[in-house]
Amino acid sequence: KMNQRNLLVTGGAGFIGVNFVHYWLGQHPNDKVIVLDALTYAGNKASLDPVIENPNLTFVHGDICNTELVESLLKDHSVNTLVHFAAESHVDRSITGPDAFIETNILGTYSLLKAAKKVWIDLPKEQGKEPLAHRFHHVSTDEVYGTLEPNDPPFKENNPYEPNSPYSASKAASDHLVRAYHHTYGLQVTTSNCSNNYGPYHFPEKLIPLIITNILQDKPLPIYGDGQQIRDWLYVEDHARGIELVLDQGRVGENYNIGGHNEWANIDIVKLVCKLMNEAFEADSNLANKYISAKSAIAGNAEQLITFVTDRAGHDRRYAIDATKTNNELGYKPAESFETGIRKTISWYLSNSTWWQGLLNN
Ligand code: NAD
Repeated sequence: KMNQRNLLVTGGAGFIGVNFVHYWLGQHPNDKVIVLDALTYAGNKASLDPVIENPNLTFVHGDICNTELVESLLKDHSVNTLVHFAAESHVDRSITGPDAFIETNILGTYSLLKAAKKVWIDLPKEQGKEPLAHRFHHVSTDEVYGTLEPNDPPFKENNPYEPNSPYSASKAASDHLVRAYHHTYGLQVTTSNCSNNYGPYHFPEKLIPLIITNILQDKPLPIYGDGQQIRDWLYVEDHARGIELVLDQGRVGENYNIGGHNEWANIDIVKLVCKLMNEAFEADSNLANKYISAKSAIAGNAEQLITFVTDRAGHDRRYAIDATKTNNELGYKPAESFETGIRKTISWYLSNSTWWQGLLNN
């Protein structure tokens, strides 16, 4: 375990990255955090506002594909830990425009690996020194394992990779490159494969924030196909805690699944969110004044907005994570139950309307 960490966090202005940065600065007041983010449509510097005055935080606007920039950040800030979140992350966008996914997810990860190898291993070696102490942590997804039938056991770390979308294929490629840099060059890597996340700062194109923000605008709640696709959901701060454990105790070269054994059909999540939104409006009469457009929820019937739409091409039926290895080896356990996590998420969106209203129509 490293005493002091200087972290380079890529994608730290995106959904999971920003939650990780908030969590890390809170838990590790002596560590330095450098965020590198290209601020694509999914990145939002305002999400760092609550920590932007923290002297331990540095924000750099830049692209992970810029290897020279990454090298200079690693050197100038004596970075010993790189946590790699930056990615194109929306499956639908990967179907209509895969280019950015190949560039950021594959070439971008390759660029980071090259810079890390050079600064941490090659340059010290040229001076006759040992490699610098370092860790390269790669954040990946359960989607690399493909899709499951209803009765299949959940994904384990040794499941074969069977990605089905341009998004999951690009993530799978990056996972393989990270692995290869360990086996070929001795780069000290770990990888975590996590299930679907939800929580604050989630871009309103993704299912849960889309449903919440559409209810507030009284817009239809689109459900793909029959709504019976199953996903395994984890509160985003529980993901941050899982990554922290892997950094502290994970074995180099290993993959760790992170998940909460929390499988839900999409339609059931949408119904749960509708129910909790109806209740929120019933419990607090001020909300109806703040969100006058939320007519169905004000009337206690957000469910009437549910609308079935044509299924996504190649839509995976089910993802589920078996996190036994991470639980047993690292003592990992999620803290949040689904209902408390969804309640926290709803109340965050209700209190942060300027954040999400600024992102609509992106
Ligand atoms: P996100 O789309 O919300 O954020 C991605 C961030 O990366 C944005 O801030 C964006 O500006 C930045 N970025 C994109 N291209 C970049 C580039 N070329 N250079 C620098 N920055 C760039 O994504 P997220 O949901 O926070 O996901 C973060 C990571 O976690 C991704 O690697 C994703 O594959 C993985 N993951 C996500 C989930 C999930 O449920 N969201 C689950 C498991 C794993």
